[in-house]
Amino acid sequence: MLSLKDIWAHYGSVAAVKGVSVEVGEAEIVTLIGANGAGKTTTMRTICGLHKPTSGEVVFEGQRIDELDPERINALGIAMVPEGRRVFPQLTVMENLEMGAYLRKDHAQLKADLEEIFEHFPILKERRKQLAGTMSGGQQQMLAMGRALMSGPKVLLLDEPSLGLSPLMTQQIAKIVKQLNAMGRTIVLVEQNARLAFLLAKHAYVMEIGRISMSGLAEDLKDDPKVRETYLGV
Ligand code: ATP
Repeated sequence: MLSLKDIWAHYGSVAAVKGVSVEVGEAEIVTLIGANGAGKTTTMRTICGLHKPTSGEVVFEGQRIDELDPERINALGIAMVPEGRRVFPQLTVMENLEMGAYLRKDHAQLKADLEEIFEHFPILKERRKQLAGTMSGGQQQMLAMGRALMSGPKVLLLDEPSLGLSPLMTQQIAKIVKQLNAMGRTIVLVEQNARLAFLLAKHAYVMEIGRISMSGLAEDLKDDPKVRETYLGV
């Protein structure tokens, strides 16, 4: 459904992503794990059009998308929840959600999607008039996910959703990710919490200084001695 083919991405003359290829099947959860600075966020940004790759291709449902602008990529069905949530703190929960749908014209479907989002995240319905900046970190993560879902995406890109959250809130987010996937959404998950990533994902890719160093079924990779030592602390 989504393929990254030999992607290179630079900041100035510095290469942050060096020939990364990733395959994401429909309705799968695929995870990218790796240390700080490995290039995971940059890879995600090349998928949603926020960072133009220097070379390589991003192909979504048979169409090359790496030259399209982010709005067009979003309209095709890819939405990103950035690291650090980045909700609009001075806007209400409802206004933040509406921002996620600004490209949409299918109002009936949008209403149905909003109801579905409120089913996944009842707290957002309860607090829809509250200013986003006054919500807890976990609630803001839910809002950021809800806002991305308002564009009706087929593929959801989640960049470090568990970062800074309590174990309980992390569990709650993980449960929602599973539910979204069970309902047919394809998910690309970047996580430093490798334990969580392996629990959720079908396929996993390990990134090290801009390259994919290992990949395979999550259930196999999690037992690899190097992965256990480096990423699971076992
Ligand atoms: P993190 O978990 O810390 O976000 P990451 O694996 O997502 O790490 P990236 O954020 O993609 O890694 O960063 C990859 C490399 O690119 C790093 O060396 C980083 O310092 C560099 N980099 C990232 N953003 C920029 C930028 N805006 N300008 C210059 N270099 C950058």
